[in-house]
This record gives sequence, C-alpha cells and structure tokens, in this order.
Amino acid sequence: MKIDLHVHTDASDGTESVETVFARASELGLDVLAISDHDTTSNWGKAAEAAVANDMGFIPAIELTTRAILPAEDGSTIKFGVHLLAYLPNPNDEALGRSMRESVEGRVSRLQEITEKIAKDYALTWQDVLDQVQVGATLGRPAVADALIANGHFVERGEVFETIWFKGSPYYVPNRTVPETREAIELVRAAGGVPIIAHPLARSKNFGAEGDFPEAHFEAMIEAGLAGFEVEHREVEEGSRRWLREMARKHDLITTGSSDYHGQQGKLNEIGENTTTLPNLLRIIEEATGTSPVNLPF
Ligand code: AMP
Ligand code: ZN
Repeated sequence: MKIDLHVHTDASDGTESVETVFARASELGLDVLAISDHDTTSNWGKAAEAAVANDMGFIPAIELTTRAILPAEDGSTIKFGVHLLAYLPNPNDEALGRSMRESVEGRVSRLQEITEKIAKDYALTWQDVLDQVQVGATLGRPAVADALIANGHFVERGEVFETIWFKGSPYYVPNRTVPETREAIELVRAAGGVPIIAHPLARSKNFGAEGDFPEAHFEAMIEAGLAGFEVEHREVEEGSRRWLREMARKHDLITTGSSDYHGQQGKLNEIGENTTTLPNLLRIIEEATGTSPVNLPF
C-alpha cells in the first residue's frame, strides 16, 4: 500500500491541476493521496472525483499556516512559521473557515509588500504575480518566484528562494494574520480534524542542530492536542528524525512520511518519494470526526 499524505495542487502553490496530480500518482503506483493545499479546501471536490477516476483513495487535508511564539532565554520572544497539516477536518467548520480566510487575505497583503520590496531591485509588478496563479488560489512566495522566472530574472523556484529569501533577507515579510500554532491545533481538533506538524524542524533558522531541539515547544503542542509528526520528509534531517521518532514513541503519537509534491516545475519532490504506513493512516482515520476519506482501497 503506497500512501502519500502531503501533496499540493494549483489551488495553492503547486504547479499542476488536481487531475494531473492524481493521474501522475496513479502512474507511479500510489494507492492513497492526501491533497493538502495551503489554507484552502477548494480542490477537495475535484480531488474526490479524480480519486474515483483513477481508482485511488483520497484523504481531504489542509496545510495551515501558523506562527509559533516562544519565550527566549533573554526575555524576548522567538517567532517562526510552523506548517500544520490538518487531516479530515470538517470543511464547513465556522472557526476554522474564518481562520483560513484571515490567513489567505493576509497572504495577499504580505505578498504585495514582498513584491514592492523586490520591485526596487528587479523588474516585477503585482500583476506579474497575479498572472502566475489561478483565480482564488492561495498566494505564496512561489507565485512571486514564478513571476521573477517569467520576467527572465531566474530559471527555477529553488534559485529564487536561495537568492531572494536567504536568512535575514530584506525581501522577507512574515505571515502576520495567521493563528498561533497551539491555537491552530485546537481549531483543527474542534473541527474534528487530526493535526500533524509538517516537516518539523526543517527550514528552521532557530532550531534543528542536534542537541538543540525545542522540547518544551513540542510538549506544549502535544498538550494542545497535536496528533503527530511528518517525520519522513526530504527536508527533515536524520538527527531530527531520530529525535522526532523518540518523541512520538514517548507520547504515543502518529508519524507520517510524505512527498510535499508541488508539481514537476515546482520542486524536486516527487509523489511517493516518502510514504506513510497503513497503521499510521488508520490511526488518523480513527481519530478524525470532521469528514470522511474517499474511495479507500481497503
Ligand atoms: P510561503 O507560503 O509564502 O511562506 O512560501 C512557502 C512555500 O514555498 C512552501 O510551499 C514551500 O514548499 C515553498 N518553498 C520553500 N522553499 C522553496 C524552494 N527552495 N524551492 C521551491 N519552493 C520552495
Ligand atoms: Zn509546508
């Protein structure tokens, strides 16, 4: 059984339609796919149809943008983005829906700010960015990257991220209108969903060096209702994986493995390059009360 629980489409920053994504997954021998676009459920309907058409299972999911705010030793606070996968939440839950709308709206003004900063140094307009996405898609930095590529400044997204959004970059603006991570965990649980941290400790500018893991932060998230960690992900280093597996064992949490596919032009990640075991998927399904999986092959 091949199960990939983290895949993006053109409802957010994936470069392919949900139909293309399912057809590719089917060719690659996948049995179950979760579609987890950023802060939106807008492709769930099409995904359910594509799953049936390709004789595959579909797990409705969202990747929520959240922000962790932790006290630092010197009395200041550390803030950083945390992506939270929500499996099988009720898509009509009012509080979750409101939170997602605020995130999506905030992403628009944030990307406008980012675009203005970049436009001081590169030929780039807001319309160039909008031209890169479907109407209604959740906007993220990949749309800006695609516009810079279309304008001939770069060749691919990875190059843009390395050149433009390095640590301490003047072109970076955080997502400010998103829920605090523990609050998001509680929102997902209240909507009957199963919250799992996406690629924990990856891309972290604050943590990640072995021996320097933020245990109190993880324990606070578990206390708030966190269900598990996406351990097998290309951006989670082996030392982090070992630590996360031990945390999961200690607290009896779910662990998953996923590709975080963004399309052939989006990122190197390929569908099914990491997978989740059936027992872990079954635990997710057992804990969920928000909505049902579609067309499962077991
Ligand atoms: P944002 O949501 O605006 O913070 O942008 C984050 C998105 O950019 C995520 O979907 C990432 O997968 C994507 N991303 C981050 N780093 C890279 C990279 N080096 N190449 C391509 N996409 C990236
Ligand atoms: Zn993510």
